[in-house]
Amino acid sequence: MHQGMRKKLVSKLREKGIHDEAVLDAINRVPRHLFMDSSFLKFAYIDQAFPIAEGQTISQPYTVAKQTELLGIQPHMKVLEIGTGSGYQAAVLATMGARVYTMERIRNLFINVQVYLKKMNLNIQFFYGDGYKGLPAFAPFDRILITAAIPEIPELLLCQLVIGGILVAPTGSANAQTMTRIIRTGEKSFKSSHHGYFVFVPMRKGKA
Ligand code: SAH
Repeated sequence: MHQGMRKKLVSKLREKGIHDEAVLDAINRVPRHLFMDSSFLKFAYIDQAFPIAEGQTISQPYTVAKQTELLGIQPHMKVLEIGTGSGYQAAVLATMGARVYTMERIRNLFINVQVYLKKMNLNIQFFYGDGYKGLPAFAPFDRILITAAIPEIPELLLCQLVIGGILVAPTGSANAQTMTRIIRTGEKSFKSSHHGYFVFVPMRKGKA
């Protein structure tokens, strides 16, 4: 039953303009319902964001697909995700063959997500910490993905990208953000582009 619902979701995402077959294939394979409270099962495969614990959200499938497509993921890439939340986005990245490092600032989410994600046996390492700092000890990363709204992208994160690496983040005010992609073209040079409007929960400083 879930398989059929996922196929419908994939067609919907295709209609909305997602073309990267590797992204669509990962969405088709990851059981999104396992990342949500079981009483909300019927909402798992419609294209909507949904509340999870601690006042946070599991991103809308279109948003996950769009961010992942903008990243241009290839197997074996080392990817830093900021904002683990439900872990769904991390699972999509890992299903595409990425080696995922994901950070969460809320302790309960950091702990809970590992209970079910570890069972899926994906290449994901979990970190409890403030994403504004990134993970300098594990840098550089081929890709960095921020899944919370951020006014502007900290230099501290940009310098954790390899040259040629890509960072994707929703930037702007708390009400609405522009999806921004930054390519590190050289030691100190970056090229940015914008890809539509989205609404995310805010990125906050420090741990909770
Ligand atoms: N990627 C998630 C969506 C998460 S919503 C998913 O697929 O479900 C954004 C998440 O970012 C929340 O869980 C929030 O607690 C977390 N967050 C906010 N500020 C953060 C910070 N400074 N460092 C790490 N995580 C942060």
